[in-house]
Amino acid sequence: MLRHATAQLLCYDTDCYLIDCGENTQVQLLRYKFRPGRLKYIFISHLHGDHYFGLIGLLTSLSLAQRHDDLWLFGPPGLGDIITLQLKYSDSRLNYPLHFQEIETGQAYPILDTPALTVEAIPLQHRIHTSGYLFREKPQLRKLIKEILPPDLPHDALRQLKEGRDVTLPDGQMLASDVFTRPAPPPRSYAFCSDTLYHAELAERVQGVDLLYHEATFLHELHERAAQTFHSTARQAAQLARLAGVGRLMIGHYSSRYKDLTPLLDEARAVFPATVLAIEGETIDVRKMG
Ligand SMILES: [Zn+2]
Ligand SMILES: [Zn+2]
Repeated sequence: MLRHATAQLLCYDTDCYLIDCGENTQVQLLRYKFRPGRLKYIFISHLHGDHYFGLIGLLTSLSLAQRHDDLWLFGPPGLGDIITLQLKYSDSRLNYPLHFQEIETGQAYPILDTPALTVEAIPLQHRIHTSGYLFREKPQLRKLIKEILPPDLPHDALRQLKEGRDVTLPDGQMLASDVFTRPAPPPRSYAFCSDTLYHAELAERVQGVDLLYHEATFLHELHERAAQTFHSTARQAAQLARLAGVGRLMIGHYSSRYKDLTPLLDEARAVFPATVLAIEGETIDVRKMG
């Protein structure tokens, strides 16, 4: 079975965040019925080809498709120069503003703050500058219990109730926020960690996230090869998940030597049962429903 290189799409409301952009990503996006024009943010973990060789194709296709909206690109040192040179020597220019922000790959620090979520860079240990990305949803407002709310309340009153404030109506009636609303679910979080040597310090960075993506290139019988190439084994990914107390672990970035992924899944589940495989084209909720 042929597997494509790394690319993940994190969707939140109407915003979509592309994480890595291996060769063929734009073709795959269309295949799974995603319009690339919806993209606003792209994050590249490192400059090995299997994580960004699809980027220049995607960027130039967006331009040909008459994109005019701003696009933000985050990635390691060198990526901005590479894009600039590729455009220069193909005598091309983009129709839209591309904002490149270089990641200081050895550090954990916030890199993006949108109305919906924050993104942090997290240091990974690989053969070249590599960064993971941690996405945290911001706390949401309380949810209205519509069935018991008096009809036709003004918008301001609804807003106050959702913010946890009590409301007094013009006729003197008092509405208590904790009666007419329920707490929002706790904010969700997703950490993307590929490629990396197993290192326990990473657990502190991703402590308690709902979903952790951690690479599992090899089975543990090849742990020496994993260490030499700065990759991890399925067992190590699971150990990291256990150490960090995450909700669920998703493994991926499997070596092409594994046609059947079951042994990788079994090995991880023996250490951390709430493990799933990253499978091309499949969608996963950051927090398991029910
Ligand atoms: Zn790599
Ligand atoms: Zn890789």
